[in-house]
Formats: sequence, structure tokens, C-alpha cells
Amino acid sequence: MRDKDLYAQILGIKSPWQVSEVDLNVAKGEVMVRVEREEGMNSCCPRCKKESPGYDSRTRRWRHLDTCQYKTILVADVPRVKCKDHGVVTVSVPWAEPNSGFTAMFEALVIDWLKEASTLGVSRLMGLSWNAIDGIMQRAVDRGLQRREAMNMTQIGVDETAFRKRHDYVTIVSDQAAGTILYVGDDRKKQGLKDWYSSLNEEQRGAIESISMDMWPAFIHATLESIPGAEDKIAFDKFHVAKYLGEAVDKVRRQEHKALMSEGYDDLKGSKYDWLYNPENMTRKHKMRFKLLRESTLKTARAWAIKEMAMSLWHYVSKTWARKGWKQWLSWAVRSRLKPIRDVAKIIKEHLWGILNAIILKVSNGPAEGLNSRIKTIKVRSRGFRNKKRFANAIYFHLGGLDLYPEGVR
Ligand SMILES: [Zn+2]
Repeated sequence: MRDKDLYAQILGIKSPWQVSEVDLNVAKGEVMVRVEREEGMNSCCPRCKKESPGYDSRTRRWRHLDTCQYKTILVADVPRVKCKDHGVVTVSVPWAEPNSGFTAMFEALVIDWLKEASTLGVSRLMGLSWNAIDGIMQRAVDRGLQRREAMNMTQIGVDETAFRKRHDYVTIVSDQAAGTILYVGDDRKKQGLKDWYSSLNEEQRGAIESISMDMWPAFIHATLESIPGAEDKIAFDKFHVAKYLGEAVDKVRRQEHKALMSEGYDDLKGSKYDWLYNPENMTRKHKMRFKLLRESTLKTARAWAIKEMAMSLWHYVSKTWARKGWKQWLSWAVRSRLKPIRDVAKIIKEHLWGILNAIILKVSNGPAEGLNSRIKTIKVRSRGFRNKKRFANAIYFHLGGLDLYPEGVR
């Protein structure tokens, strides 16, 4: 087989294209494969597919899969046609997508590697610039999002995750059943989430049965304004409620510790984490000490008991009984004379409707938290995100459940 035929076979080059020249440059470590269009063939406008008169042509290059250790470059003069509806446009070639400097097969290989290795690793391995990899990822995600079919999600989670700095957040919407990320928003404001809801069709919005979230007003209002019957579907996440209560217990401990120390008592010294974490993980001796603390008359012990009580109120199956349980808890918390606890109780009282929904619907952000830890891994693997768009792309790429490969290469 002659080298031209060999390359035509390997590259899948078919009429009207043919391989006209193969040139091995040993010094440069490069194989150049020149591809030509058969003469006298008419070309079509890539947008309307109508046959159109030729206009001129432009020489273009694409990097293809290496031939042994040689970098392999495809070169072709690609015709431009003058379509009467779309003006002067470049015809499409079967081996690459428009505006890419890589063949589809090369992009597919990079996509496979990116799933396994860090951006830096892929950059070194394949001799590609960060920008080149970014372009491949971006095209893969755009393709995937375009192909994503309208499906009905029933249980979704809305969460936030920090981008780079603290206090700079993005919104993350996940499909809890599929474990995929549906949407990455620029910030955690109301409008972004509203825009995402309005990108769904009416049937999709109606199919959503639960929306698990933190008690963040922007998320609550965006959902109430977009999803029919949202007041029965918004579910405030148990772990976020636990976090607020945990912080309140810690505040009580700090205040009490300070007061005790000023009177010369160090009962609470070194106990910070005892109150925050599960005593099951403690050593026996440690457990005994914590038991004594817990059963003491300290304010911190009271705050802790109130928190534990709240955490035991998530097992109800009837809304009526759940409400009764929480009302009792609220009255205890309010009478506790512990300001940090009363402050959280106030928030819980205002949001009780959504806590009751979470209990009855049996949903939480647990699945979203799992995705959150995978997002952290992505962040580590792609150090140096220069902007949020890249960050969002990486999340869609790895966690979007998308079909990323170029047409014809799957
Ligand atoms: Zn056209």
C-alpha cells in the first residue's frame, strides 16, 4: 500500500477529498499529510446545505493523532463558497469541526485523557497549550449541552460552591437521581437561578417534585416565583440546619468558657470539638469526660441537648406530627435563655414549612454535597482557573453527564 492510500484509510478520507502528498520531516519530527479536493466538484453551504458557486479557498492545518512518535498535521485548501442566503462561508470538512485546529479524532483523544488526568498533565503529555486544551473542553461542553435532551428531573438540589476566593460563589443545580450537574450559575443571586428555571419547558418545571436547598433567600424566591406549587416542594436541607445549630452551640461555649475562665474555672477548656462532632469517634476515656460535661448544668450542655433534640426530629412521616414535634422544640429553644440558640430558633421558625417538606419528602442535599467534593477535586486538578467560565466548563465536562465527543467519533 502506498503511503497516500495508507493515510487515506487511516484518516477515513473519502471522495471528494483525497490524500495528495505525505511528507515526513524527520528533523522536525513531523508528518505532513496534504489533502485535496477532487477537481470540478461543487461545494455546499455548510449552513443551508445548498450547492453554491466557489469563491476562493484558504489553507488550513489540523493536528491529528500522532503517527508513531511523529506529530501528524493535516493540511488542506478549504474552499469558501458564496451562498446566496449566507454570503461567503467556508465549507465543512469531514475530519474536523469548524473553527478547530484539531481533527475530531484528536479532540476525542484529548477528551479521553482529560477525564483521567489533570489539565497540566494533558498539556505536558500531548504538547498542547492550556488555551488549546481549554478550546477542546469548551467545544466538548457546548456540544454536550446542545445534545442534552429535554428530560424530566423530579428531585433537584440547589447549592453553592466557592470559586477561588472565599465569598465568591457559584450556584450549582444538580439532578439528584442521576447524580449530574444541570446548571452552574455565575453567582448565587436570584436572577441566575430564575433564568435557569425559565430555560426549562412547562412540563419539566411541573415534573420537579422537590428542590432541596439551604435557607438562602435568593434560592427560595427564585424557586417560589418559578416552580408551580413550590411552597410544598422546597425542602430545607438537614445538614445546613445542623450547621447553624452547631455554630450556635459553639458560640454559647465560647461565651461560657470566657465567663468561667474569668472566675478561674477551666471546665470547658479544650472541649470545642467534643460539642461539634459525633462522640462515637471518641476514645473511651474521652467519651467518659464528655459524658460528664454533657450531663452538667453548663449552658453549653443545654445548648448541645437542644441541638441534638432538633436533629432527632427528622424521622416523621406525618406532617401534622412533625409540626407538633418542631413546635415543642421551638418553645424549648426560645425559653432556653441562650441567645445564639434563640437566634437560630427564630430562623427555623420562619422556615419551618420547608423543613417539614424536607422531612415528608425525605430529601436532603446529601447527594449535592457528594458532588461538591468532586467539584473540589476538579478545582485541584485544574489549578489556575482564570475565570468562572472555565471553572463552569470543567464542572460540566466532568459532572454534567454529557455526550462530549465530536460528531462521528464516539
Ligand atoms: Zn447557505
